[in-house]
Amino acid sequence: MVVCIKQVPSSTKVNIDPETKTLMRGGVGAMLNPFDEFAIEEGVRLAEKHGGECIALTMGPPQATDILRTALEQGCDKGYLASDRAFAGSDTLATSRTLASAIRAIEKRDGPVDLVICGQQAIDGDTGQVGPSLAVRMNLPPLSYVSKVREVDLEKREITVERMLERGTQVVRSELPAVLTVVKAINLPRFPSLLAKRKARTRPVEKLTLADLDITEADTGLKGSPTRVVKIFPPEERKIASVVYTGDPKESAGKLALDLAKLLGHGGAS
Ligand SMILES: Cc1cc2nc3c(=O)[nH]c(=O)nc-3n(C[C@H](O)[C@H](O)[C@H](O)COP(=O)(O)OP(=O)(O)OC[C@H]3O[C@@H](n4cnc5c(N)ncnc54)[C@H](O)[C@@H]3O)c2cc1C
Repeated sequence: MVVCIKQVPSSTKVNIDPETKTLMRGGVGAMLNPFDEFAIEEGVRLAEKHGGECIALTMGPPQATDILRTALEQGCDKGYLASDRAFAGSDTLATSRTLASAIRAIEKRDGPVDLVICGQQAIDGDTGQVGPSLAVRMNLPPLSYVSKVREVDLEKREITVERMLERGTQVVRSELPAVLTVVKAINLPRFPSLLAKRKARTRPVEKLTLADLDITEADTGLKGSPTRVVKIFPPEERKIASVVYTGDPKESAGKLALDLAKLLGHGGAS
């Protein structure tokens, strides 16, 4: 099983590179994408129940190793960091292409992957596209918004899940392997014990670079990203003023009506 996790800025105060229009993450704190905690927990629970390994994978800069360590503390058996200058600036298509190729490389090293689990969305890019796009790149069934894994039948090579819809729940049975994106309602992530944290230190984190993948520089990073960011700007700050009307309620109501009329451009209202 592979759980895809993303490192996201822990602050909203990030700058944009004026030339590439990409986020400048340097100097900003980073953390595990909160939605991915649920993906990790589900992967670890399924590995505990059905056997096999739960492997955490992230594509990011070297500092993203920190979130792999968090995943190991939460019970993952191994971590993979897909990191290479060539991956920088990837949009959702290039990200999913790179992750798909990284998973194929993991399969060569650690054996076949039955399930790929992603979070519902990342709190920075916020598109929710990577999971389903990853399924397409891997030619696997995408099961999105999963709120419960009902059953995994390894003999029949099937998984039955509940999908959270706007009105109600859909029960879906799919063949394995499959790609899941999970919602927060799926579980309550564990709080790692001291022992789990100590055990995590002995678990391996391996690195994958472009040379380890079956894609080229043209498939990943800015070169492999068809998304063109034409303009990016912070929303204009809205000025909020407050006026308190005191005294006689009738007079205050009259003043309020006049002020509102002025604001709406009916200055002469009486
Ligand atoms: C218009 C636009 C332009 C962008 N341009 C750039 C750019 O030029 N440079 C740049 O750096 N970023 C850019 N980004 C951000 C970049 O596309 C996304 O950060 C990245 O592709 C992941 O998409 P997302 O954050 O929307 O993830 P989502 O699709 O919301 O994430 C869903 C799930 O996918 C998995 N996942 C997502 N990303 C990763 C990852 N890196 N590793 C492992 N698992 C992952 C996680 O399980 C996550 O919960 C851009 C985003 C947009 C919307």
